[in-house]
Amino acid sequence: QSHSQIRPIQALPDNLISQIAAGEVVERPSAVVKELLENALDAGATQITVRLDQGGVKRIAITDNGRGIAPEQLPLAVARHATSKIASLTDLENVATLGFRGEALASIASVSQFMMSSRTADAEHAFQIENGVVSPTSGAPGTTVDVQELYYNTPARRKFLKTDQTEFGHCADVVRRLALARPDVTFTLTHNGKTVDHWNIASMDKRSAHIMGAEFAEARLAIDHSAGPLRLHGFAGLPTASKARADAQFFYVNGRFVRDKLLTHAVRAAYQDVLHGDRYPSYVLALQLDPSLVDVNVHPSKIEVRFRDGRAVHQFVFHAVQAALSHTSATAFGTAPA
Ligand code: ADP
Ligand code: MG
Repeated sequence: QSHSQIRPIQALPDNLISQIAAGEVVERPSAVVKELLENALDAGATQITVRLDQGGVKRIAITDNGRGIAPEQLPLAVARHATSKIASLTDLENVATLGFRGEALASIASVSQFMMSSRTADAEHAFQIENGVVSPTSGAPGTTVDVQELYYNTPARRKFLKTDQTEFGHCADVVRRLALARPDVTFTLTHNGKTVDHWNIASMDKRSAHIMGAEFAEARLAIDHSAGPLRLHGFAGLPTASKARADAQFFYVNGRFVRDKLLTHAVRAAYQDVLHGDRYPSYVLALQLDPSLVDVNVHPSKIEVRFRDGRAVHQFVFHAVQAALSHTSATAFGTAPA
């Protein structure tokens, strides 16, 4: 249709709104995996299985043993802007769950063949919802979300997908990121029927060694540093565990994996004296602070955050990491103290 064709202003149909939102919320299979994993964790799951076929493009099925959804709530779960996680602006400003926007399931369902089944702890059996219809089914307590043929109805989006192997790699990264943050949860990842990763419940120590590899496990410093409302804990790799690429850097804010300039800079600065400019430190660091001190509602994917007092956070992280590194400088870097 031509530019000159003027149409009256119309409210968009609901499904189209969800499809538009899907462009932001679920731009590729790994984003679906992230949203579904976050829902499972928010539901208190201690066991999560991620099954992918053909890089997640063909199928993403995630099963958890969390608290489940009552049958009468299933239609709401897939409705846009419907959530059990916040009910007010005050809740939003203090949000402690990974999700809160209430749009992931609606967005995913609008661009896939979508089925969800769920059973609460006290229910006699499970219920499923498919194409808006709720019906009884079998299943253990918990929830399964089954997403098939992602973007089948939005071919323009589907065209942007890379090879199955590349898409799978992104999905696996997402699973590893969350598994690193939650050693108290068992994760299983399968691709095309083969188990790729399996992590049993373990200590943070073991889980991070498992996921980050032996090289990191043998050359890392434990950090646990608190000041006022801020706590930073985890592991900072020694310079010997540094990499030529920034692919072993895991930073979490209140359990959420983030890529934040301010935090990356603070850590980088702490390494300044011990690391060459062309090397990237390896680390798994978790910052905890009162949810009211950080705004997670910055971007739909929630990978960016904004701190109420960015300077204080920067200084805190910088000092925590620098102190840990300097403690061992005498032995680790061969610079004997004067
Ligand atoms: P949000 O996570 O932002 O609330 P979603 O669209 O991801 O929005 O999910 C909508 C609602 O469905 C959630 O608030 C939650 O109540 C319910 N839900 C989704 N996934 C699960 C799950 N795996 N287990 C239990 N409840 C779930
Ligand atoms: Mg969610």
